[in-house]
Amino acid sequence: MMPEPYLAKPAAAISILQQYGIRTQKKYGQNFLIDAHIPEKIVEAAGVTGSDCVLEIGPGIGTLTQYLAARAGRVIAVEVDTGLIPVLSETLAEYENTLVISADVLKVDLKKLIEDHAQDRPVKVVANLPYYITTPILMSMLEAQLPVLSYTLMVQKEVADRMQAAPGTKDYGALSLAVQYHTVPEIVLQVSPGCFLPKPKVGSTVIRLTSRPARLAENEKEALFRIIRAVFSQRRKTLYNSLRHAAELSYTAGQITAALESCRLRPDIRGEALSLEQFIELEKALEQ
Ligand code: SAM
Repeated sequence: MMPEPYLAKPAAAISILQQYGIRTQKKYGQNFLIDAHIPEKIVEAAGVTGSDCVLEIGPGIGTLTQYLAARAGRVIAVEVDTGLIPVLSETLAEYENTLVISADVLKVDLKKLIEDHAQDRPVKVVANLPYYITTPILMSMLEAQLPVLSYTLMVQKEVADRMQAAPGTKDYGALSLAVQYHTVPEIVLQVSPGCFLPKPKVGSTVIRLTSRPARLAENEKEALFRIIRAVFSQRRKTLYNSLRHAAELSYTAGQITAALESCRLRPDIRGEALSLEQFIELEKALEQ
C-alpha cells in the first residue's frame, strides 16, 4: 500500500524545510504547493492511471510527486536544486515506483531518460513548472517530439493564455502556434497565489496539452516555424513585407506573390491574423 500524501499543507511544508534548514530559492522559481485540492485536481486532469509513467519536472520537496506516485505505475522526477535531493529521499522514501534525477531538465536527454526508465509505459508529463523558464522547457520538449501523450502543466496565467490564444488577439504569437501545432491545449483550472509557499506575484493556471500526431515532414516543419518567427518578430509589418525582408527567409518577390495569391491572402494582411491552418497552407505554397 502506498502511503497517503501528506505534504500539501502549510505546516507540513514549513516543517520539512526547517528540518533541512532550507529556504525556498527564487532563482529556481520555487513556489511549493500547500493546498491539497490542487495536486488532486492536477492528477485528475492528467488522467494518470496505474499503467502510466509520469515525467515530473521540478518535484521540489515532493508534494505533487507523492500524489503522482500514488496513482501512476512509475514516476521520473527531475530536480535541479541539489539541496532538495536529501529532502526528496525522505519524502518519497516509501514511494518505490519513483526515481529522482538530480539535473537541470534543459540539459537532460529526455528521450533517452524515457527510453531507459519508462519501462515501455505510456508517458505523461505533469509539472508545476518554474515560471522563469516555462517557455524554454516546454519548447524543448515539444521540439524534441518526445513520446508523450499529454502535458498537464501549472504555468503563469498569462503564459497559459498565450498558449491557447486565437489569431488576431494580442496574446497570439509564436508560442501559441508552436503549442497548437504539436498539441491541443485546454485550460483546466485557475489557481490563486495563496495555494503556494511562498505566494507568487502572479496568478497561475493549470493547462493540459494533448499531443497530436506530426502533420508535416521535419524540413517542412522547420520552414513553417521560420515563417512564423519572421511574422511575429515584426508584428506590425504586412505579411508580404515580413516574408520578403526577414533575415531567416530567402523567398523571391515572385514566389511570395504567387504563394499569397494561391492561398487567397491579400499582400497587405498582417501575418498575426493567420490561423495555424493558413500558415501551413502558406508554407506549402511557398515551397512549391
Ligand atoms: N513540484 C513542486 C510543487 O508543486 O510544490 C515544486 C514546484 S516549483 C514551482 C518548481 C520546481 O522546479 C522547483 O523545485 C525548482 O527547484 C525546480 N526547477 C527549477 N529549474 C529547474 C530546472 N532547470 N530543471 C529541473 N528542475 C528545475
